[in-house]
Amino acid sequence: MATLKAVRGTRDLLPPETALWNRIEATARAVFARYNFGEIRTPVFEDTSLFSRGVGEETDIVSKEMYTWEDRARAQSEKPQSLTLRPENTAGVVRAYIEHKLGETGQLQKLYYIGPQFRRERPQKGRYRQFSQIGAEVIGPPSAGSESPLRDAEVLEMLATLLDELGITGWTLDINSVGSSGDRARYNETLRQALIPLPPKMCEDCQRRAVTNPLRVLDCKVPEDQPIIETLPKIADSLDEASKSHFAAVLAALDAAGVPYTRNHRLVRGLDYYTRTTFEFTHGGLGAQNALLGGGRYDGLSEAIGGPKAPGIGFAMGEDRLVLTLQALEAARPEKSDAYIAPLGEAMNPPALALARELRRTGLSVELGDGTFRLKKSFYAADRIARRIVILGEDELKSGILTVKDFSTGIQTRVPRAELAAMLKVPSGQ
Ligand code: ATP
Ligand code: MG
Repeated sequence: MATLKAVRGTRDLLPPETALWNRIEATARAVFARYNFGEIRTPVFEDTSLFSRGVGEETDIVSKEMYTWEDRARAQSEKPQSLTLRPENTAGVVRAYIEHKLGETGQLQKLYYIGPQFRRERPQKGRYRQFSQIGAEVIGPPSAGSESPLRDAEVLEMLATLLDELGITGWTLDINSVGSSGDRARYNETLRQALIPLPPKMCEDCQRRAVTNPLRVLDCKVPEDQPIIETLPKIADSLDEASKSHFAAVLAALDAAGVPYTRNHRLVRGLDYYTRTTFEFTHGGLGAQNALLGGGRYDGLSEAIGGPKAPGIGFAMGEDRLVLTLQALEAARPEKSDAYIAPLGEAMNPPALALARELRRTGLSVELGDGTFRLKKSFYAADRIARRIVILGEDELKSGILTVKDFSTGIQTRVPRAELAAMLKVPSGQ
């Protein structure tokens, strides 16, 4: 019998990698708590129509990526029902918001989730059929301030903080406004007109999009099409005054908080229900699948699935991609011990242990070599696992002055024992 394997696009997570997943989730929970978000857990499958209405028939997700099945009736009294494994969690959160009448509290709801999502995509690095998202939503009646641009800016500032605390350096935030649904319809029409003479020179996908959904032309990655796309009208010019001032207020708050961003007028994102602010955080280390997270405002979503007016803003981060990014960053700068102590000769082993104890008690991480090693072997071993090597021979022990070499600069210095711990705490290379 053929051996059974995890289904294509799914995978097992094993230790030690699971420790990294747990660290990411613990950091996310701690940051969310500081911003007063509470956790929501919605079912892994929902009625299919939640996604066709809440995500949009036109999107890649609904048109080709969903795991949908007909759940047969088990009794005469039951009806068969079309069910779908959730491909994203915003629709489920908004369904729960409506179902539990959270709007009637009159308060802003700040909810976060962590859990698996399912999309039938072509598996590749950073793209799986079961993957995990960490996301959050701020949603509520307009009287609770849910439409305020300050909510958008606060969510973005929280994300910048979270990525920094996770140790993800070098991220980029791209931001745009797609305006109200009216603005978007107007822009779509402007684009449709502008595209009439162009498609014959463009890729096949663009030829189709120019007719069915002109906005999607902006997503095209084909290099030859880029100069043409750059000449197209920009959505910023189709925004009404209210959307323009909302966007300006978001950017002003980001400037005040010192969150760096790039305005990207081509960022229109995949989901139909987005309004006004849309954003994406990317990381260069991820290659083709470079989006760490995406999100935006969805002022009409609740009404689209039969609920009250409940503007909101949220995001979803790809946890798998956070893991990949952190693994790549950590491989580029492996964790090294602060110091490697090299005793010169076996007789120096006991005083070397005493020195290691002294340094470790100050909080330094120390590797202890062995006096049977030749100096060359000690240097070789130390260079791979420590930032600096400390040499302890008879002379050093007597004089109390130790020889220290910093591997990143190659510089060797002589340091009094009393100053050694402080010196080793300074980052190497300085
Ligand atoms: P992409 O352009 O990469 O397909 P998307 O627009 O489909 O992304 P969203 O629906 O906005 O993505 O999901 C938010 C985040 O979830 C993405 O930025 C990404 O990090 C992650 N994500 C989406 N699809 C997958 C997948 N199949 N496997 C792993 N992570 C994913
Ligand atoms: Mg996708």
